[in-house]
Amino acid sequence: MRVGVPKEIKIHEYRVGLTPPSVAELTRHGHEVIVETGAGGGIDFADSDYVAAGARIVATAAEVFEAADMIVKVKEPQLHECAMLRPGQTLFTYLHLAADKPQAEALMASGATCIAYETVTDRAGGLPLLRPMSEVAGRMSVQVGAHYLEKEQGGRGILLGGVPGVAPARVAILGGGVAGVNAAQMAVGMRADVTIYDISTARLAELDAQFEGRVKTAFSSRAAVEAAVARAHLVIGAVLIPGAAAPKLVTRDMLGLMKRGSVLVDIAIDQGGCFETSRATTHADPVFTVDGIIHYCVANMPGAVARTSAFALNNATLPYALRLANMGADAAMAADPHLAEGLNVAGGRITHAAVAEALSL
Ligand code: NAD
Repeated sequence: MRVGVPKEIKIHEYRVGLTPPSVAELTRHGHEVIVETGAGGGIDFADSDYVAAGARIVATAAEVFEAADMIVKVKEPQLHECAMLRPGQTLFTYLHLAADKPQAEALMASGATCIAYETVTDRAGGLPLLRPMSEVAGRMSVQVGAHYLEKEQGGRGILLGGVPGVAPARVAILGGGVAGVNAAQMAVGMRADVTIYDISTARLAELDAQFEGRVKTAFSSRAAVEAAVARAHLVIGAVLIPGAAAPKLVTRDMLGLMKRGSVLVDIAIDQGGCFETSRATTHADPVFTVDGIIHYCVANMPGAVARTSAFALNNATLPYALRLANMGADAAMAADPHLAEGLNVAGGRITHAAVAEALSL
């Protein structure tokens, strides 16, 4: 199969659909890979790295779309990219169609087979192609939280891990899923005093066993969250209710209970945020302050560590990309119902029930 990798064109997007090691795997399996010049330039993958992996470099995205049977990307295609797709072609990327009707209609009009990373499932009911980005965001949340607790950043002037004789910062993590557990691992590693709050008692039991006493766990009642924010120096919002907006666990009133210069990191901002006072920010201007509390609400945190994120994403997507290339999209999805869950658009219609319902299509 001919596999195409255009350069990402969404603003501040430096990740790339296939890294040179992934290209090498595909070419080793006999596939032809066509890469737009400069596709990996933002994270120091030179065209020569792709050539060494067996790819052919072309000058424009149009040439990639023209030549390829399957396009592998990171972000949803922009409308003029949708216009370059055609029947018989497969698109494999994040789509997030439920909130984007113009893109959905453009993909339907293209006639292409569009498989979305975010709805591919696994046997455990997880979302294996979203997982790596939650891992990145969870780990990063502690790094940015520690940074904004510094006095120069407007923070309280607290070192996350304390020092001998001075207590560490208290970190409250709301939601003990993929992002929450990765945040906890980093915070524990930095010797903070960490408590994870979740509404799933089964999850709390798993976390309790996993951390062997190095984190506290608590049921996420309103009263518990109120007490948590009053005590904490860093609060990390990592809740998810699949398919729904994030619940507003920390109300504006609760900010009044917090210590000035404390930090809120709202990882769940891409689902609307779990703090009432959150609004989405960008890497260019990541924080704002409400009632003396610093809010970090960047909706695409993994973009800041694009090289790590590109490798992490490829680790998860490559096995699927290989199967799609080896077998063709229809046969690969017929053989794997979890991959088939990723199918969002085919034959001019929306094929994923939840996406169709969200779009009223
Ligand atoms: P997950 O499903 O693995 O975990 C979510 C956890 O939240 C679950 O354990 C669930 O029981 C818990 N939960 C639900 N309601 C709760 C409540 N009221 N109180 C406490 N816990 C509650 O999800 P995840 O993969 O960890 O993702 C978490 C969030 O991070 C999602 O909104 C995801 O979209 C977002 N995310 C954001 C970025 C970013 O750049 N900002 C990157 C990746 C993921």
